[in-house]
Amino acid sequence: MVYRPLKHLATLCLMSIASLHGQAADAHGLLVVIKADDLVYRKDGSVFGAGWNRFIEIADEQEIKVSIGIITNSLDYGTDAYFSKIRRLHDSGQVEFWNHGYTHKRDVETGHSEFKGASFDAQLATLTRGQTLAKEKLGFEFTSFGSPYNHKDPNTPRALREVPELTSWMYGDEQAELLPGQVVLGRSIHLEQPVHHPNFEAFKRDFEANPDRPYYILQAHPGGWDTERFEQFVQVVKYLQEKNAIFMTPTELRDRLLEEN
Ligand SMILES: [Zn+2]
Repeated sequence: MVYRPLKHLATLCLMSIASLHGQAADAHGLLVVIKADDLVYRKDGSVFGAGWNRFIEIADEQEIKVSIGIITNSLDYGTDAYFSKIRRLHDSGQVEFWNHGYTHKRDVETGHSEFKGASFDAQLATLTRGQTLAKEKLGFEFTSFGSPYNHKDPNTPRALREVPELTSWMYGDEQAELLPGQVVLGRSIHLEQPVHHPNFEAFKRDFEANPDRPYYILQAHPGGWDTERFEQFVQVVKYLQEKNAIFMTPTELRDRLLEEN
């Protein structure tokens, strides 16, 4: 049996809570996931690179959980230093690492990528290649997925249904028919405006216009941020902390949404 989890969850959540308090965020907390994309192994000796190191430092300082999407071919060419750094963060429980595709390549002419225009077999192979590499090199299994460029086509949910250990799909197709237990965590407002530029004022404006979403998945690309962009990010984090936000991993959010409904 298949069902449409996100629509179902969001509708139930909003209905039940709206009748009690008028605002979803009041009743079950302000739920936030940081979806940081594009971790790769750096051959310059920095392993993660300065941007990612700063991002993790900020997560520590602010005591927030974050999630990091790995471009999984880096698990083919990375070193033990890379794998052990990922493992250590994974073991801390503060960071969830997730499957962000294998090559992250896009055909500039057709616009096609690993999850857009590729066959069902190719999409499934890309997913399972990353899952297998994680188990081999990191010793754990990814339970969340977010595609490169957030691309998707009708083959993407078909492929995901073949990989049941992937239980959350960030910025996925909210109409997709997935397995019971597989949840789409949808997109609403943006931290980066434009992409790659955290923008506190724009975020605050959009948040104030949408204060009652069941949760917020905030996409980030900290590998390329400079000092000023990190400052904007920290402002957003502090703003949300003042509102008692709960920073969760995508899998924790998925578990919570299923428990609540
Ligand atoms: Zn990406």
